[in-house]
Amino acid sequence: MAKIAINIATGSLQQAEMIVGIDLGTTNSLVAIVHPETKQPICLKEHNANSIVPSIIYFDENNNVIVGEEAHKYLETNPANTIFSAKRLMGKSYNDIKNNASFFSYKVIDDSTESLVKVQVNNKFYSPIDLSSFILKELKNRAEHILKTPVTKAVITVPAYFNDAQRQATRDAGKLAGLDVLRIVNEPTAASLAYGLGTNTTDEKIIAVYDLGGGTFDISILKITNGIFEVLSTNGDTYLGGDDFDKAIVDYWIEENKIDSTTLTTNKSLVQSLRLKAEEAKKYLSSSNEFFSRLNELTLFIKKDKFENLIQPLINKTIDCCKLAVKDAGIDLQEIDTIVMVGGSTRIPSVKTAVSNYFNKEVFDSINPDEVVALGAAIQADILAGNNKNFLLLDITPLSLGLETMGGLMDVLIPRNSKIPSKVSRQYTTQKDAQGSMRISVFQGERDLVKDNRKLAEFNLTGIPGMPAGMPKVEVSFLINADGILTVSAKELRSGVEQSIEVKPQYGITDSDVEKMLLESITHAKDDIATRALVEARTEGEQILSVTEKFLQKNTTLVSQDEMIETAQAMQALQLALTMEDKNLIHTKIEALNEITRPFAERAMDAAVSGALSGKSIL
Ligand code: AMP
Repeated sequence: MAKIAINIATGSLQQAEMIVGIDLGTTNSLVAIVHPETKQPICLKEHNANSIVPSIIYFDENNNVIVGEEAHKYLETNPANTIFSAKRLMGKSYNDIKNNASFFSYKVIDDSTESLVKVQVNNKFYSPIDLSSFILKELKNRAEHILKTPVTKAVITVPAYFNDAQRQATRDAGKLAGLDVLRIVNEPTAASLAYGLGTNTTDEKIIAVYDLGGGTFDISILKITNGIFEVLSTNGDTYLGGDDFDKAIVDYWIEENKIDSTTLTTNKSLVQSLRLKAEEAKKYLSSSNEFFSRLNELTLFIKKDKFENLIQPLINKTIDCCKLAVKDAGIDLQEIDTIVMVGGSTRIPSVKTAVSNYFNKEVFDSINPDEVVALGAAIQADILAGNNKNFLLLDITPLSLGLETMGGLMDVLIPRNSKIPSKVSRQYTTQKDAQGSMRISVFQGERDLVKDNRKLAEFNLTGIPGMPAGMPKVEVSFLINADGILTVSAKELRSGVEQSIEVKPQYGITDSDVEKMLLESITHAKDDIATRALVEARTEGEQILSVTEKFLQKNTTLVSQDEMIETAQAMQALQLALTMEDKNLIHTKIEALNEITRPFAERAMDAAVSGALSGKSIL
């Protein structure tokens, strides 16, 4: 097992190479490093420029990409070609976001509700992974330009509530940008690290991280024990932030200046100018008592206490979220040792006061709240690089460990760079009716298809009692003990049938093998991601065909002759699509088949209910 200080996963890391820390934010992104001489974390910026890169991507008519401040101005002039808040789409299907679809002024594709969203610009389609990769590429270029050295390794932060799919999507975006993502770190963890919390291994602390940005609010309660961060709970509001404070001021000025609604609907640029002025006022009021300005003939005046009154209900909402988070964490309020402030909106004094009053403690706010997450990511990167000798050296896994799932896909249970000892369990089920055994194949590597990874072990879990497909619950656990021995066990939870095997994950693999495998994962990133999407679509298609066939066999009476023909045709079309290399086509055909069969399922349900009732006497 590799030791972080001398071998950060690849075993051949050169000391001179910088690993950057990246805060990939909804509105703003930043890249940071720990300065090799001062040993202090710093956000990278060009001379006299800002460290913040707005997370905005503009596509011109030839699909050339501009990212950051330059792209900002196109938000107003060419909204259809200017993508903001791509992070909100990461790992999401159209179903997940349809209630907020009006929030996006660009085209979010809704042709297949279950599959992952795409964004259309000009004649091209982009996944949120593609979009995030453009931002990451810009940050990579910026870092390379400033550091005058290639940057190929990064730590990227994500919200603590991001699920596996969203974390994987972030990793994929990194790969596409040409970055080897050494670790995905939770944003609140990074913010805590920036304040030096958790870097002392004897620390045992509970921390609340209050993150109020431009468009989102998150509260996370973390527990640190022996340098390991555990997320106890998260809460928040994905549509609450500084933008709402700006809007409160705009609404106030509209009322004060008696601007009527027709002027507002016809004069869009007036609303935009008011919004920009409101943001200026809000920032000014963080350090002054009143704001005064003019916009044409309009007087724009607001006092600090008026502003505070306007936003009090919004601040109260964030405090309500904090209360829920504390409750979910299962702790008493007094047990929280430290409160860390993150996000530009925490500069507002009344926000600080409200948070401090609720937690009954002084808040940590001495670090720039826009930069604190990126700075923490840089510290994490530095620890991984082995430069920070004061930090506890924990053993880590150099390559990801996972299982083969349908279609030869690699399902990672323990991502590379995980600390050991480590234990992860995940549930799987059978593919066929009455399937009596399940093959568990264990692989090591970073590629999406197991055939490109290294097989470590294989065994059969036998004796699964006959059940319909999808019924058995097989829990597979990966346990790596402190000696680096991996034990894989599988247990069918309904029957208790169990089997396990011991593997030495690193046996026979050299540092240069590891390096080669990592490099290949980057070179083949684009192909791998596309192949995985295709295999997943095919698997979904096959499952739907099999379920539909079974349903039709059992429920002939519920389906008319015409419907039967229509269904058969849709099944045939899907079957044909499965033989082609086009995942979008497969999704379209799945959706078409679902459209036809959806009413059948409802009918079957009704029949089942009335059948159940008819057998019982009602007193
Ligand atoms: P973030 O998403 O963390 O970059 O935060 C951006 C939000 O912070 C925007 O709504 C900004 O208007 C707001 N912000 C930045 N500086 C200040 C300030 N001095 N006072 C109040 N809000 C601020």
